[in-house]
Amino acid sequence: MEDNPLLSLGDEVLPIFIFDTNILNKLQKEDKRVSFIFHYVYKLKQDLSACGLDLKIFYASPQDVFEYLIPQGMDEVVASGDYDSYAKERDLQISHKIHFRYIQDTYIFKPYEVLKEDKTPYLVFTPFYKKARVILNSKKSEELKMAHNRLMDEDYKAITKIDAKGVVTKLPLSLESLGFLKQKVGIINPHAKLEKFKQNCNKYKQMRDFLYEDVGSNLSVDLRFGTLSTRAVLRYVLSLKGFDVEPFIRQLIFRDFYAYLLFHMPRVENKNYKYSFNGIEDREKYEIFCKGQTGVPIVDAGVRELIQTGQMHNRVRMVAASFFTKDLLLPWQWGEQFFAQHLLDFDKASNVLSWQWSAGTGVDPQPYFRVFNPYLQSKKFDKDAHYIKRFCPELLHVEAKYLHDENYLLNNSVKDYPKPIVNHKTASKIAIECFKKDTFL
Ligand SMILES: Cc1cc2nc3c(=O)[nH]c(=O)nc-3n(C[C@H](O)[C@H](O)[C@H](O)COP(=O)(O)OP(=O)(O)OC[C@H]3O[C@@H](n4cnc5c(N)ncnc54)[C@H](O)[C@@H]3O)c2cc1C
Repeated sequence: MEDNPLLSLGDEVLPIFIFDTNILNKLQKEDKRVSFIFHYVYKLKQDLSACGLDLKIFYASPQDVFEYLIPQGMDEVVASGDYDSYAKERDLQISHKIHFRYIQDTYIFKPYEVLKEDKTPYLVFTPFYKKARVILNSKKSEELKMAHNRLMDEDYKAITKIDAKGVVTKLPLSLESLGFLKQKVGIINPHAKLEKFKQNCNKYKQMRDFLYEDVGSNLSVDLRFGTLSTRAVLRYVLSLKGFDVEPFIRQLIFRDFYAYLLFHMPRVENKNYKYSFNGIEDREKYEIFCKGQTGVPIVDAGVRELIQTGQMHNRVRMVAASFFTKDLLLPWQWGEQFFAQHLLDFDKASNVLSWQWSAGTGVDPQPYFRVFNPYLQSKKFDKDAHYIKRFCPELLHVEAKYLHDENYLLNNSVKDYPKPIVNHKTASKIAIECFKKDTFL
Protein backbone atom coordinates (compact mmCIF):
# COMPACT_ATOMS: atom_id res chain seq x y z
CA MET A 1 0.00 0.00 0.00
CA GLU A 2 2.89 2.33 0.71
CA ASP A 3 5.41 3.34 -1.86
CA ASN A 4 4.12 1.03 -4.57
CA PRO A 5 4.77 2.01 -8.20
CA LEU A 6 1.92 -0.23 -9.36
CA LEU A 7 -0.57 1.78 -7.32
CA SER A 8 0.90 5.10 -8.32
CA LEU A 9 -0.16 4.57 -11.95
CA GLY A 10 -3.56 6.16 -12.46
CA ASP A 11 -6.18 4.50 -14.67
CA GLU A 12 -8.95 1.97 -14.54
CA VAL A 13 -7.38 -0.99 -12.78
CA LEU A 14 -7.99 -4.54 -11.69
CA PRO A 15 -5.57 -5.32 -8.86
CA ILE A 16 -5.00 -9.08 -8.83
CA PHE A 17 -3.09 -11.64 -6.84
CA ILE A 18 -2.59 -15.14 -8.19
CA PHE A 19 -2.04 -18.08 -5.88
CA ASP A 20 -0.11 -19.86 -8.59
CA THR A 21 -0.99 -23.55 -8.78
CA ASN A 22 2.30 -24.29 -10.59
CA ILE A 23 4.03 -23.33 -7.35
CA LEU A 24 1.45 -24.32 -4.73
CA ASN A 25 0.90 -27.82 -6.10
CA LYS A 26 4.50 -28.68 -5.22
CA LEU A 27 4.27 -27.53 -1.59
CA GLN A 28 3.23 -29.36 1.57
CA LYS A 29 -0.09 -28.21 3.02
CA GLU A 30 1.78 -27.08 6.17
CA ASP A 31 4.03 -24.69 4.20
CA LYS A 32 4.66 -21.65 6.42
CA ARG A 33 5.13 -19.24 3.54
CA VAL A 34 1.61 -19.75 2.26
CA SER A 35 0.26 -18.77 5.70
CA PHE A 36 2.50 -15.70 5.64
CA ILE A 37 1.45 -14.71 2.12
CA PHE A 38 -2.24 -15.37 2.74
CA HIS A 39 -2.14 -13.14 5.83
CA TYR A 40 -0.64 -10.26 3.85
CA VAL A 41 -2.78 -10.76 0.74
CA TYR A 42 -5.90 -10.64 2.91
CA LYS A 43 -4.59 -7.50 4.64
CA LEU A 44 -3.78 -5.93 1.28
CA LYS A 45 -7.33 -6.62 0.12
CA GLN A 46 -8.72 -4.91 3.22
CA ASP A 47 -6.36 -1.93 2.93
CA LEU A 48 -7.18 -1.49 -0.76
CA SER A 49 -10.91 -1.66 0.01
CA ALA A 50 -10.47 1.13 2.55
CA CYS A 51 -9.16 3.31 -0.32
CA GLY A 52 -11.99 2.48 -2.71
CA LEU A 53 -10.05 -0.24 -4.53
CA ASP A 54 -10.01 -4.03 -3.98
CA LEU A 55 -8.05 -7.14 -4.84
CA LYS A 56 -9.27 -9.98 -7.00
CA ILE A 57 -7.71 -13.23 -5.88
CA PHE A 58 -7.14 -16.16 -8.22
CA TYR A 59 -6.22 -19.76 -7.56
CA ALA A 60 -4.93 -20.94 -10.93
CA SER A 61 -1.94 -20.94 -13.23
CA PRO A 62 -1.06 -17.41 -14.47
CA GLN A 63 -1.56 -18.58 -18.07
CA ASP A 64 -5.17 -19.58 -17.34
CA VAL A 65 -5.85 -16.36 -15.44
CA PHE A 66 -4.89 -14.25 -18.45
CA GLU A 67 -6.83 -16.48 -20.87
CA TYR A 68 -9.82 -15.66 -18.68
CA LEU A 69 -9.10 -11.93 -18.22
CA ILE A 70 -7.98 -10.81 -21.67
CA PRO A 71 -11.42 -11.24 -23.32
CA GLN A 72 -12.82 -8.93 -20.66
CA GLY A 73 -11.02 -5.95 -22.17
CA MET A 74 -7.66 -5.70 -20.44
CA ASP A 75 -5.07 -3.84 -22.46
CA GLU A 76 -1.95 -4.31 -20.41
CA VAL A 77 -0.43 -6.07 -17.44
CA VAL A 78 1.78 -4.11 -15.10
CA ALA A 79 3.86 -6.08 -12.64
CA SER A 80 6.98 -6.13 -10.56
CA GLY A 81 9.04 -9.28 -10.40
CA ASP A 82 12.19 -11.24 -9.86
CA TYR A 83 14.82 -12.92 -11.96
CA ASP A 84 14.59 -16.67 -11.42
CA SER A 85 14.04 -18.85 -14.45
CA TYR A 86 10.42 -19.71 -13.59
CA ALA A 87 9.48 -16.05 -13.08
CA LYS A 88 11.20 -14.97 -16.30
CA GLU A 89 9.55 -17.70 -18.38
CA ARG A 90 6.13 -17.01 -16.82
CA ASP A 91 6.35 -13.30 -17.64
CA LEU A 92 7.57 -14.05 -21.16
CA GLN A 93 4.60 -16.35 -21.81
CA ILE A 94 2.14 -13.73 -20.54
CA SER A 95 3.83 -11.06 -22.67
CA HIS A 96 2.97 -13.15 -25.77
CA LYS A 97 -0.71 -12.79 -24.89
CA ILE A 98 -0.95 -9.19 -23.70
CA HIS A 99 1.22 -6.09 -23.50
CA PHE A 100 3.41 -6.61 -20.44
CA ARG A 101 4.91 -3.67 -18.56
CA TYR A 102 7.58 -4.73 -16.12
CA ILE A 103 8.29 -2.31 -13.31
CA GLN A 104 11.56 -2.95 -11.52
CA ASP A 105 10.66 -2.60 -7.87
CA THR A 106 12.10 -5.55 -6.01
CA TYR A 107 15.68 -4.31 -5.78
CA ILE A 108 17.52 -1.03 -5.28
CA PHE A 109 19.16 -1.05 -8.71
CA LYS A 110 18.05 -2.10 -12.16
CA PRO A 111 20.19 -4.89 -13.65
CA TYR A 112 21.96 -2.57 -16.13
CA GLU A 113 22.43 0.30 -13.69
CA VAL A 114 25.66 -0.87 -12.07
CA LEU A 115 28.13 -1.95 -14.77
CA LYS A 116 31.91 -1.82 -15.19
CA GLU A 117 33.47 0.82 -17.44
CA ASP A 118 33.38 -1.67 -20.34
CA LYS A 119 29.61 -2.15 -19.72
CA THR A 120 29.97 -5.73 -18.53
CA PRO A 121 28.62 -6.88 -15.14
CA TYR A 122 30.76 -6.95 -12.01
CA LEU A 123 31.64 -10.42 -10.72
CA VAL A 124 33.16 -9.32 -7.43
CA PHE A 125 31.13 -7.70 -4.67
CA THR A 126 33.44 -4.94 -3.36
CA PRO A 127 33.84 -3.04 -6.66
CA PHE A 128 30.11 -3.55 -7.31
CA TYR A 129 29.37 -2.12 -3.86
CA LYS A 130 31.65 0.89 -4.41
CA LYS A 131 30.02 1.77 -7.74
CA ALA A 132 26.52 1.05 -6.37
CA ARG A 133 27.18 3.32 -3.38
CA VAL A 134 28.10 6.24 -5.67
CA ILE A 135 24.92 5.70 -7.69
CA LEU A 136 22.88 5.40 -4.50
CA ASN A 137 24.22 8.76 -3.26
CA SER A 138 22.94 10.43 -6.39
CA LYS A 139 19.52 8.72 -6.29
CA LYS A 140 16.57 10.54 -4.83
CA SER A 141 14.42 8.15 -2.84
CA GLU A 142 11.04 9.83 -3.00
CA GLU A 143 8.01 8.12 -1.59
CA LEU A 144 5.55 7.04 -4.27
CA LYS A 145 2.06 8.39 -3.72
CA MET A 146 -1.04 6.42 -4.53
CA ALA A 147 -2.87 7.59 -7.65
CA HIS A 148 -6.66 7.89 -7.83
CA ASN A 149 -7.48 4.75 -9.71
CA ARG A 150 -10.88 3.63 -10.85
CA LEU A 151 -11.62 0.08 -9.92
CA MET A 152 -12.88 -2.28 -12.62
CA ASP A 153 -16.32 -3.67 -12.06
CA GLU A 154 -15.68 -7.29 -11.03
CA ASP A 155 -16.59 -9.86 -8.40
CA TYR A 156 -14.13 -9.47 -5.54
CA LYS A 157 -15.89 -11.51 -2.86
CA ALA A 158 -14.44 -14.94 -3.50
CA ILE A 159 -11.25 -16.63 -4.65
CA THR A 160 -11.65 -17.36 -8.37
CA LYS A 161 -10.40 -20.82 -9.15
CA ILE A 162 -9.66 -21.69 -12.76
CA ASP A 163 -8.70 -25.25 -13.51
CA ALA A 164 -6.56 -26.49 -16.41
CA LYS A 165 -9.70 -26.96 -18.57
CA GLY A 166 -10.67 -23.35 -17.96
CA VAL A 167 -13.57 -24.20 -15.63
CA VAL A 168 -14.19 -21.30 -13.24
CA THR A 169 -15.43 -21.80 -9.66
CA LYS A 170 -15.76 -19.49 -6.69
CA LEU A 171 -14.13 -20.48 -3.41
CA PRO A 172 -14.52 -18.93 0.06
CA LEU A 173 -11.79 -16.44 0.94
CA SER A 174 -9.72 -18.67 3.15
CA LEU A 175 -6.37 -20.40 3.27
CA GLU A 176 -8.16 -23.76 3.52
CA SER A 177 -9.76 -23.11 0.11
CA LEU A 178 -6.24 -23.36 -1.30
CA GLY A 179 -5.71 -26.70 0.45
CA PHE A 180 -3.29 -25.32 3.07
CA LEU A 181 -3.37 -25.41 6.86
CA LYS A 182 -2.75 -22.28 8.89
CA GLN A 183 0.73 -22.27 10.45
CA LYS A 184 2.19 -20.17 13.25
CA VAL A 185 4.65 -17.84 11.56
CA GLY A 186 4.95 -15.01 14.11
CA ILE A 187 4.08 -12.12 11.81
CA ILE A 188 5.65 -8.86 12.98
CA ASN A 189 4.89 -5.48 11.46
CA PRO A 190 7.95 -4.57 9.34
CA HIS A 191 7.90 -0.96 10.62
CA ALA A 192 8.18 -2.31 14.17
CA LYS A 193 11.16 -4.39 12.99
CA LEU A 194 12.79 -1.23 11.65
CA GLU A 195 12.25 0.58 14.95
CA LYS A 196 13.75 -2.37 16.85
CA PHE A 197 16.69 -2.49 14.46
CA LYS A 198 17.44 1.17 15.24
CA GLN A 199 18.17 0.16 18.86
CA ASN A 200 20.66 -2.47 17.67
CA CYS A 201 22.07 -0.60 14.71
CA ASN A 202 25.36 0.44 16.34
CA LYS A 203 26.00 -3.16 17.45
CA TYR A 204 25.20 -4.64 14.04
CA LYS A 205 28.74 -4.74 12.62
CA GLN A 206 30.36 -6.37 15.67
CA MET A 207 27.52 -8.54 16.94
CA ARG A 208 25.67 -9.68 13.79
CA ASP A 209 27.23 -13.14 13.90
CA PHE A 210 26.57 -13.92 17.55
CA LEU A 211 23.69 -16.33 17.87
CA TYR A 212 22.22 -15.13 21.08
CA GLU A 213 22.29 -11.43 20.18
CA ASP A 214 19.40 -10.89 17.82
CA VAL A 215 20.81 -7.74 16.21
CA GLY A 216 19.79 -8.45 12.59
CA SER A 217 16.80 -6.61 11.18
CA ASN A 218 14.86 -9.82 10.39
CA LEU A 219 13.54 -7.99 7.35
CA SER A 220 14.55 -10.58 4.74
CA VAL A 221 11.05 -12.04 4.56
CA ASP A 222 9.50 -8.58 4.12
CA LEU A 223 11.96 -7.66 1.41
CA ARG A 224 11.24 -10.99 -0.25
CA PHE A 225 7.49 -10.54 -0.37
CA GLY A 226 7.41 -6.75 -0.68
CA THR A 227 5.65 -6.18 2.64
CA LEU A 228 8.14 -3.34 3.01
CA SER A 229 9.90 -1.77 0.05
CA THR A 230 13.71 -1.64 -0.17
CA ARG A 231 13.33 2.09 -0.84
CA ALA A 232 11.48 2.54 2.46
CA VAL A 233 14.16 0.60 4.35
CA LEU A 234 16.91 2.69 2.76
CA ARG A 235 15.09 5.97 3.39
CA TYR A 236 14.68 5.00 7.03
CA VAL A 237 18.29 4.01 7.71
CA LEU A 238 19.72 6.93 5.74
CA SER A 239 17.65 9.30 7.85
CA LEU A 240 19.22 8.01 11.08
CA LYS A 241 21.81 10.46 12.28
CA GLY A 242 24.67 9.34 14.55
CA PHE A 243 24.15 5.64 13.77
CA ASP A 244 26.57 3.31 12.01
CA VAL A 245 24.23 2.26 9.20
CA GLU A 246 26.81 1.48 6.50
CA PRO A 247 27.37 -2.22 7.41
CA PHE A 248 23.62 -2.77 7.07
CA ILE A 249 23.39 -0.87 3.75
CA ARG A 250 26.23 -3.06 2.54
CA GLN A 251 24.10 -6.16 3.20
CA LEU A 252 21.13 -4.65 1.36
CA ILE A 253 23.44 -4.04 -1.60
CA PHE A 254 24.64 -7.64 -1.24
CA ARG A 255 21.06 -8.79 -1.81
CA ASP A 256 20.99 -6.68 -4.97
CA PHE A 257 24.34 -8.09 -6.08
CA TYR A 258 23.09 -11.68 -5.90
CA ALA A 259 19.94 -10.84 -7.86
CA TYR A 260 22.11 -8.98 -10.39
CA LEU A 261 24.39 -12.01 -10.81
CA LEU A 262 21.41 -14.31 -11.38
CA PHE A 263 20.01 -11.85 -13.93
CA HIS A 264 23.28 -11.62 -15.89
CA MET A 265 24.23 -15.30 -15.49
CA PRO A 266 21.00 -17.34 -15.33
CA ARG A 267 22.89 -20.63 -15.70
CA VAL A 268 24.19 -20.38 -12.11
CA GLU A 269 20.67 -21.21 -10.91
CA ASN A 270 21.51 -24.93 -11.33
CA LYS A 271 25.10 -25.16 -12.54
CA ASN A 272 28.47 -24.47 -10.92
CA TYR A 273 29.96 -21.19 -12.03
CA LYS A 274 33.45 -22.70 -11.58
CA TYR A 275 34.82 -26.26 -11.16
CA SER A 276 33.17 -29.38 -12.49
CA PHE A 277 33.33 -31.24 -9.17
CA ASN A 278 29.82 -31.21 -7.79
CA GLY A 279 29.86 -33.38 -4.68
CA ILE A 280 28.94 -37.03 -4.32
CA GLU A 281 25.30 -38.11 -4.21
CA ASP A 282 24.55 -39.92 -0.95
CA ARG A 283 20.87 -40.16 0.05
CA GLU A 284 21.62 -41.58 3.48
CA LYS A 285 23.86 -38.70 4.55
CA TYR A 286 21.36 -36.25 3.07
CA GLU A 287 18.46 -37.68 5.13
CA ILE A 288 20.55 -37.52 8.31
CA PHE A 289 21.38 -33.87 7.65
CA CYS A 290 17.73 -33.01 6.96
CA LYS A 291 16.62 -34.56 10.24
CA GLY A 292 19.19 -32.57 12.23
CA GLN A 293 20.89 -35.78 13.37
CA THR A 294 24.48 -35.33 12.15
CA GLY A 295 25.87 -35.33 15.70
CA VAL A 296 27.43 -31.89 15.08
CA PRO A 297 25.48 -29.70 17.51
CA ILE A 298 25.60 -26.33 15.72
CA VAL A 299 24.56 -27.89 12.41
CA ASP A 300 21.71 -29.90 13.94
CA ALA A 301 20.45 -26.88 15.91
CA GLY A 302 20.38 -24.84 12.69
CA VAL A 303 18.49 -27.46 10.70
CA ARG A 304 15.97 -27.91 13.51
CA GLU A 305 15.51 -24.13 13.81
CA LEU A 306 14.81 -24.05 10.08
CA ILE A 307 12.23 -26.83 10.20
CA GLN A 308 10.47 -25.51 13.31
CA THR A 309 10.43 -21.79 12.53
CA GLY A 310 11.21 -21.29 8.83
CA GLN A 311 14.20 -19.19 9.87
CA MET A 312 17.90 -19.74 10.33
CA HIS A 313 20.53 -17.28 11.53
CA ASN A 314 22.90 -16.16 8.75
CA ARG A 315 26.01 -17.45 10.53
CA VAL A 316 24.41 -20.89 11.00
CA ARG A 317 23.32 -20.95 7.33
CA MET A 318 27.00 -20.48 6.42
CA VAL A 319 28.20 -23.17 8.83
CA ALA A 320 25.47 -25.66 7.83
CA ALA A 321 26.00 -25.10 4.09
CA SER A 322 29.77 -25.51 4.47
CA PHE A 323 29.27 -28.72 6.45
CA PHE A 324 26.81 -30.01 3.83
CA THR A 325 29.04 -29.35 0.83
CA LYS A 326 32.50 -29.92 2.32
CA ASP A 327 32.23 -32.32 5.28
CA LEU A 328 29.38 -34.36 3.81
CA LEU A 329 30.48 -33.65 0.24
CA LEU A 330 26.88 -33.51 -0.97
CA PRO A 331 25.84 -31.57 -4.11
CA TRP A 332 25.04 -27.96 -3.19
CA GLN A 333 21.86 -28.15 -5.30
CA TRP A 334 20.37 -30.63 -2.81
CA GLY A 335 21.04 -28.30 0.11
CA GLU A 336 19.69 -25.36 -1.85
CA GLN A 337 16.46 -27.30 -2.47
CA PHE A 338 16.18 -28.24 1.19
CA PHE A 339 16.53 -24.59 2.24
CA ALA A 340 14.09 -23.57 -0.52
CA GLN A 341 11.50 -25.90 0.93
CA HIS A 342 11.71 -24.48 4.44
CA LEU A 343 13.04 -20.90 4.47
CA LEU A 344 10.38 -18.29 5.05
CA ASP A 345 12.58 -15.73 3.30
CA PHE A 346 13.48 -18.12 0.46
CA ASP A 347 14.75 -16.10 -2.46
CA LYS A 348 16.17 -17.93 -5.46
CA ALA A 349 19.03 -15.51 -6.10
CA SER A 350 20.24 -15.19 -2.49
CA ASN A 351 19.83 -18.88 -1.81
CA VAL A 352 21.53 -20.22 -4.94
CA LEU A 353 24.42 -17.77 -4.84
CA SER A 354 24.96 -18.29 -1.10
CA TRP A 355 25.02 -22.08 -1.59
CA GLN A 356 27.47 -21.74 -4.46
CA TRP A 357 29.60 -19.45 -2.27
CA SER A 358 29.61 -22.08 0.48
CA ALA A 359 30.49 -24.87 -1.95
CA GLY A 360 33.30 -22.76 -3.39
CA THR A 361 31.82 -23.16 -6.88
CA GLY A 362 30.27 -19.70 -7.16
CA VAL A 363 31.03 -16.38 -8.79
CA ASP A 364 32.61 -14.81 -5.71
CA PRO A 365 36.32 -15.44 -5.22
CA GLN A 366 35.63 -17.73 -2.21
CA PRO A 367 38.44 -20.30 -2.33
CA TYR A 368 37.42 -23.99 -2.26
CA PHE A 369 39.96 -24.71 0.51
CA ARG A 370 38.20 -22.39 2.94
CA VAL A 371 36.17 -24.79 5.07
CA PHE A 372 34.34 -23.75 8.22
CA ASN A 373 35.22 -25.75 11.33
CA PRO A 374 31.74 -26.11 12.89
CA TYR A 375 33.16 -26.63 16.38
CA LEU A 376 35.29 -23.47 16.32
CA GLN A 377 32.34 -21.59 14.87
CA SER A 378 30.00 -22.63 17.68
CA LYS A 379 32.67 -21.95 20.31
CA LYS A 380 33.05 -18.42 18.99
CA PHE A 381 29.45 -17.50 18.20
CA ASP A 382 27.48 -19.61 20.69
CA LYS A 383 29.97 -19.88 23.55
CA ASP A 384 27.44 -20.88 26.22
CA ALA A 385 25.57 -23.08 23.73
CA HIS A 386 22.27 -21.32 24.43
CA TYR A 387 21.30 -21.52 20.76
CA ILE A 388 22.33 -25.18 20.46
CA LYS A 389 20.40 -26.17 23.58
CA ARG A 390 17.31 -24.26 22.52
CA PHE A 391 16.92 -26.42 19.41
CA CYS A 392 18.56 -29.63 20.66
CA PRO A 393 16.96 -30.10 24.10
CA GLU A 394 18.60 -33.52 24.51
CA LEU A 395 21.89 -31.61 24.95
CA LEU A 396 20.63 -29.45 27.82
CA HIS A 397 22.55 -31.43 30.43
CA VAL A 398 25.86 -31.40 28.48
CA GLU A 399 28.39 -28.73 29.46
CA ALA A 400 28.77 -26.13 26.69
CA LYS A 401 32.52 -26.72 26.32
CA TYR A 402 31.89 -30.35 25.26
CA LEU A 403 29.46 -29.27 22.55
CA HIS A 404 32.31 -27.38 20.88
CA ASP A 405 34.72 -30.29 21.29
CA GLU A 406 34.80 -32.77 18.42
CA ASN A 407 37.08 -35.24 20.24
CA TYR A 408 34.74 -35.38 23.20
CA LEU A 409 31.70 -35.98 20.99
CA LEU A 410 33.47 -38.65 18.93
CA ASN A 411 34.69 -40.53 21.96
CA ASN A 412 31.81 -40.21 24.42
CA SER A 413 28.17 -41.19 24.18
CA VAL A 414 25.55 -38.55 24.80
CA LYS A 415 22.14 -39.97 25.66
CA ASP A 416 19.63 -39.64 22.78
CA TYR A 417 22.15 -37.84 20.57
CA PRO A 418 24.21 -39.43 17.76
CA LYS A 419 28.00 -39.36 17.47
CA PRO A 420 29.32 -37.00 14.74
CA ILE A 421 28.68 -38.50 11.32
CA VAL A 422 32.18 -37.51 10.11
CA ASN A 423 35.52 -36.46 11.51
CA HIS A 424 35.81 -32.83 10.44
CA LYS A 425 39.55 -32.81 9.80
CA THR A 426 39.51 -35.95 7.62
CA ALA A 427 36.34 -34.98 5.78
CA SER A 428 37.50 -31.46 4.92
CA LYS A 429 40.85 -32.83 3.69
CA ILE A 430 39.00 -35.13 1.26
CA ALA A 431 36.86 -32.23 0.04
CA ILE A 432 39.92 -30.07 -0.60
CA GLU A 433 41.59 -32.94 -2.50
CA CYS A 434 38.51 -33.33 -4.73
CA PHE A 435 38.58 -29.65 -5.66
CA LYS A 436 42.35 -29.66 -6.08
CA LYS A 437 42.10 -32.48 -8.64
CA ASP A 438 39.35 -30.55 -10.38
CA THR A 439 41.53 -27.47 -10.81
CA PHE A 440 44.05 -29.58 -12.76
CA LEU A 441 41.49 -31.27 -15.02
C1 LIG B 1 23.36 -20.88 2.53
C2 LIG B 1 22.63 -19.56 2.62
C3 LIG B 1 21.35 -19.43 2.09
C4 LIG B 1 20.68 -18.20 2.14
N1 LIG B 1 19.41 -18.09 1.61
C5 LIG B 1 18.75 -16.90 1.65
C6 LIG B 1 17.45 -16.77 1.08
O1 LIG B 1 16.88 -17.71 0.52
N2 LIG B 1 16.82 -15.56 1.19
C7 LIG B 1 17.43 -14.48 1.80
O2 LIG B 1 16.82 -13.41 1.87
N3 LIG B 1 18.67 -14.56 2.31
C8 LIG B 1 19.35 -15.74 2.26
N4 LIG B 1 20.61 -15.84 2.81
C9 LIG B 1 21.26 -14.60 3.32
C10 LIG B 1 21.06 -14.29 4.81
O3 LIG B 1 21.26 -15.44 5.60
C11 LIG B 1 19.68 -13.70 5.16
O4 LIG B 1 19.37 -12.67 4.25
C12 LIG B 1 19.69 -13.13 6.57
O5 LIG B 1 19.90 -14.17 7.50
C13 LIG B 1 18.40 -12.44 6.87
O6 LIG B 1 18.40 -11.94 8.17
P1 LIG B 1 18.12 -10.40 8.43
O7 LIG B 1 16.91 -9.98 7.68
O8 LIG B 1 18.15 -10.18 9.91
O9 LIG B 1 19.40 -9.75 7.75
P2 LIG B 1 20.19 -8.40 8.07
O10 LIG B 1 21.50 -8.79 8.61
O11 LIG B 1 19.36 -7.46 8.86
O12 LIG B 1 20.46 -7.80 6.61
C14 LIG B 1 19.54 -6.91 5.97
C15 LIG B 1 19.06 -7.50 4.67
O13 LIG B 1 20.14 -7.63 3.76
C16 LIG B 1 19.99 -8.83 2.99
N5 LIG B 1 21.11 -9.73 3.30
C17 LIG B 1 21.78 -9.86 4.46
N6 LIG B 1 22.76 -10.77 4.35
C18 LIG B 1 22.72 -11.25 3.09
C19 LIG B 1 23.47 -12.21 2.37
N7 LIG B 1 24.51 -12.86 2.92
N8 LIG B 1 23.13 -12.46 1.09
C20 LIG B 1 22.10 -11.81 0.50
N9 LIG B 1 21.35 -10.88 1.14
C21 LIG B 1 21.65 -10.60 2.41
C22 LIG B 1 18.68 -9.46 3.42
O14 LIG B 1 17.66 -9.07 2.53
C23 LIG B 1 18.48 -8.88 4.81
O15 LIG B 1 17.13 -8.84 5.22
C24 LIG B 1 21.31 -17.07 2.76
C25 LIG B 1 22.59 -17.22 3.31
C26 LIG B 1 23.25 -18.45 3.26
C27 LIG B 1 24.63 -18.56 3.83
